[in-house]
Amino acid sequence: MLKGIIANKGYAIGNILKIDDQKIDISRVTIKNIESEISYLYEAIDKTVAQLNHLKMINKSKFDAETLAIFDAHIAIANDPEVINQIEEKIRKESCNLTYAITFVVNSIVELFKDITDEYIRQRASDLLEVSDRIIKNHLEIAMIDIQNIDQKVILAAHEITASIAAQINPKYISGIISEVGGKNSHSSIIARLLGIPALVGVDLLMDTIHNDDQIILDAIEGKLIRSYTKDSLATYKEKMFAYKLEKQKLKMINKVKAVTKDGIEIPLLANIGSSKDLKLALEQNASGVGLFRTEILFLDRYEIPNEEEQFLEYKKVLEAFNQKPVIIRTLDVGGDKDLAYLKLPLEANPALGNRGARLSLTHTDIFKTQIKALLRASQYGNLKVMFPMISEKDEFIKLKKMISQVEKELKDKNISYKPFDLGIMIEVPSAAIIADQLAPVVDFFSIGTNDLIQYTFAADRLNANLDYLNQPFHPSILRLIHMVTTAAKAHGKKTSVCGEMASDPIAACLLIGLGVDELSMTSSLIPEVKNKILSQSHGNLVALAEKLLHEDSQKDMIKLLNKNLQN
Ligand code: PEP
Ligand code: MG
Repeated sequence: MLKGIIANKGYAIGNILKIDDQKIDISRVTIKNIESEISYLYEAIDKTVAQLNHLKMINKSKFDAETLAIFDAHIAIANDPEVINQIEEKIRKESCNLTYAITFVVNSIVELFKDITDEYIRQRASDLLEVSDRIIKNHLEIAMIDIQNIDQKVILAAHEITASIAAQINPKYISGIISEVGGKNSHSSIIARLLGIPALVGVDLLMDTIHNDDQIILDAIEGKLIRSYTKDSLATYKEKMFAYKLEKQKLKMINKVKAVTKDGIEIPLLANIGSSKDLKLALEQNASGVGLFRTEILFLDRYEIPNEEEQFLEYKKVLEAFNQKPVIIRTLDVGGDKDLAYLKLPLEANPALGNRGARLSLTHTDIFKTQIKALLRASQYGNLKVMFPMISEKDEFIKLKKMISQVEKELKDKNISYKPFDLGIMIEVPSAAIIADQLAPVVDFFSIGTNDLIQYTFAADRLNANLDYLNQPFHPSILRLIHMVTTAAKAHGKKTSVCGEMASDPIAACLLIGLGVDELSMTSSLIPEVKNKILSQSHGNLVALAEKLLHEDSQKDMIKLLNKNLQN
């Protein structure tokens, strides 16, 4: 039996579909037989065109004419004589291998388009990258799984479900997710929770042990995979699945109720979303607003940066859906484990400690300003608040805020109307938590990102399954940092919310409330369980309990005490 870390609770029974995401070697090799290398080019193009025609045919009933035309555009790109000539010439002149020649030619064309703002041309560059990727994979005979087009129920298995793979998943067909790497709070796990798909990560030897079409039971309640099972155990699991669904169904009864403690304090429960696709569930759960809109999801599943208009429409949609309820939109948080291939960021030895989040906004000011323009324009359609991720010192905040003022001025000069928004920061780096008393006077609110705060406090990569034992949300170090933040915020009349995964655990949520957190934001599907727990507690008791817990000295003792005190 294979075991793993539970990334999202639930059960799934079904057939495995393996994704082998092989790294492609694009290095230059000198070849001897130029003619056969060129013939490989034409073979790979033929294969690609046939594939695209097939995809167009099988998607005829699913897509409208405009979407289907994308396949024709891609076929035209694959057959583009100008590009083909350049690749051929490169191989002939330099006696180099095909993979290298394609990559070189395509990259130099894309580079030419880099500074062009014309949307049509930018889209062509993006299409060219996508098609050339397909041609290279066909040449190297790397099987491609078109995740977006999976139309049979399967359980996905991969060495790593990257954030961009996760962003393409359609929960209608993917009933479970399993991976070898990843931690409870890696971004693919967060997306799995967002989509409500049972998921297990950190499953050792997964890819060596399972095969395509294996029938398995994914038990993401006990954290295991069952590969050979009897009729009886299958029947038992079907019963478990039914009972689990029933339990979830029961919690729906409190959908309309607010999360108010027994002594009358309301704790707004907001939704974490990744795009407007998540709105339906958030509204169904009657979320008090959006506490975290991870805008990077918009940037991940594609070949180029979404332009201002596209971003504006997406933000507007979310703001309008929530009417006057607050919507906190986080500026782009990429870098680290969320790589955007098209940004071609230099490789860093320690990406989690590198140029990511707010730091990247400071080095890529054009991307930041475009996003701010879109946000300012959208702000008129609801109750927008904006926050910066990964702030580690006051100056970063001041610099980014200044850039916002510049963008405001630009809009004013052009007579474009906008509404200024509240501006907060995420507290996810210990340095920021420690100087919360200096940050509180200059920001409008704090939102604690416990996923990163835990990772950076313990210096333990949140993606590394072997370090899962250091993912300790109940550790005294974390409690003390959170308490420092809420105390500083209160002293300056500012609010603190928590939008890291800790907020979605009912017991941890109670602890956070006791520590002085005002609002909690979580994956919508987890709101009912947290609400149910809050309804049974008194705020006064939670504060007294947290006060006591601040002096405990291990996570184990803390959990024991919490469970004892929070039983209802
Ligand atoms: C966090 O770090 O807790 C957080 C909410 O941000 P993300 O998980 O997207 O890094
Ligand atoms: Mg974070």
